[in-house]
Amino acid sequence: AKSKGRDSAILFNDELSIRIERKLDIERLLHFAIENQEITLMYQPQLNTRGKVTGCEVLARWNSEQLGFIPPDEFIPISEDTGMIIELGYYILQEAFKTFRNWEEKGIELEQFSINISMRQIFHTTFIDDVQRLCQEYLSDTLRSKIVFEMTETSVAEDVSIIIEKMNKLKKCGIRFSMDDFGTGYSSLSYLRQIPIDELKIDKSFIFELNDSNESTNMVKTILNIAKNLNLKIVAEGVETQQQKEFLIKEECDILQGYHFSMPLTKSIFEEYFDSNANS
Ligand code: C2E
Ligand code: CA
Ligand code: CA
Ligand code: CA
Repeated sequence: AKSKGRDSAILFNDELSIRIERKLDIERLLHFAIENQEITLMYQPQLNTRGKVTGCEVLARWNSEQLGFIPPDEFIPISEDTGMIIELGYYILQEAFKTFRNWEEKGIELEQFSINISMRQIFHTTFIDDVQRLCQEYLSDTLRSKIVFEMTETSVAEDVSIIIEKMNKLKKCGIRFSMDDFGTGYSSLSYLRQIPIDELKIDKSFIFELNDSNESTNMVKTILNIAKNLNLKIVAEGVETQQQKEFLIKEECDILQGYHFSMPLTKSIFEEYFDSNANS
């Protein structure tokens, strides 16, 4: 038994050191990845209940020369830990804005363009200035009023007043806010009422369980009611099946997003998707 304990301790240490090494690799390579244009953006369509494409969510991808494909669920948290999210987030905003401007020139008209923003980014001292400058450089007034920043709930209650102040400054530029992964975090109803958000995004875990769990079904109905009562737009993500789609339409969810309609697409494939949707 003694030697068995030692073996598993060694195994554990190996696993841990592999994980630490990978984290260090990712940390080390992120800066280079931005310069080397290994980070690209994908655009996932959002549709209204009549099936029309009304918007998209920008999702980052990293195909590393050294490490291969690294999912955002892995490199975004690391970039948040290390502070690299500031540089990365700026790059993502800039590239996304370039795409939106190009689409405007091409006549690809959407109602909204959603971009994920980390709390760490919002709290950074230059964030408001950076966003204002990028807006001025790339976006028409019309486009500016179509930008939505998706942020996740935060548990740090004492920071709420600072968040509100920052959000209000950005709202003056026309930017709107969506509460991402809603239902999974800590936010209370009073928190929801305090912060100036415009949209709720139901977390995909609730959508996945719609068909086989009464709790999830009730949860989704409850969230839809909260959104309605607070006058917030509501988006469901992770819609994969016809059944889920029909349920959400019946319950008057505004906007649907998920593999049932489309995966996240490259810029040019999104353009094709938009064209065929417009002609259908
Ligand atoms: P998220 O913001 O909740 O994004 C939704 C995730 O669900 C995306 O994963 C998307 O590809 C995936 N998804 C969409 N529809 C479906 C579906 O029908 N079924 C399933 N199973 N999944 C679906 P992705 O692209 O891997 O991104 C993961 C997370 O990484 C995002 O979660 C977000 O938190 C973060 N992330 C991605 N891009 C960015 C970014 O540019 N900035 C920041 N700060 N975070 C980002
Ligand atoms: Ca999101
Ligand atoms: Ca989400
Ligand atoms: Ca998420």
